[in-house]
Amino acid sequence: PAGLDLRIRKGITDLAIRPIVKWGEGVLHTPSAIVPAVTDEIRTLLDDMNDTMIAAPGIGLAAPQIGVGLRVIVINLTVGEDPKQLIELVNPEYISREGEVKEEEGCLSIPGYAGSPVRPRFVRVKGLGRDGVERVYEGEGLLARAFCHEIDHIDGKLFVDRLTPLKRDLMVRKLRKRAKANDWDDSPS
Ligand code: ZN
Repeated sequence: PAGLDLRIRKGITDLAIRPIVKWGEGVLHTPSAIVPAVTDEIRTLLDDMNDTMIAAPGIGLAAPQIGVGLRVIVINLTVGEDPKQLIELVNPEYISREGEVKEEEGCLSIPGYAGSPVRPRFVRVKGLGRDGVERVYEGEGLLARAFCHEIDHIDGKLFVDRLTPLKRDLMVRKLRKRAKANDWDDSPS
C-alpha cells in the first residue's frame, strides 16, 4: 500500500538516530503490518533502527518504536559493541517456544520503568534477513526474552500488558500521567 511506502520514505530524510516513541502512542499499541518485500527502504529502516538502538542504548528495537508500523526488529545483546552479533529480522515469527521464566525487563518506550513478565526460556524464531533470505535463530535466556519482547512490539504489546492485573493497573495509572504530561525525563514516582 502507498501509505506504507510514504511512512518509510519520510524516515530516510531524517537522521539515522530516530526519536523513540513512548507508551501511549497508537503505533505501539497496534499490530504492525507485514513487510511485502525486503527493499532498499527496509534496509535503510534496519540501519536506522540499529543506530537508534545503539544510541539509546538498548539491546533490541522494533520498528513501531520509531513510529513505523512494520514487522521489523533488531537485536544486539552487546549493544552494538560487537556488530557481528546484530540480528535483523523482517516478518519474524515463532517456530517454537519452550519453558517459562520470570525476569525483570525494561523497554526504551517506557523509560525508567521495569516489570517481570513470564517469558519462554527458549525460542526458535524465523524471519527474513536484509537480503530477503529466510533466517532461523534459536535463543535462550536473555536472547529468548529479547526475541519475545520485540515480537510483542510488532504485535502491539508491551511488557506492561503481560504483568499481573494488579501490577499492570498500577503501572498503567503512572504511565497515563507520564504520557499526558509528555514527560519521561525525570526518575519515576
Ligand atoms: Zn520495548
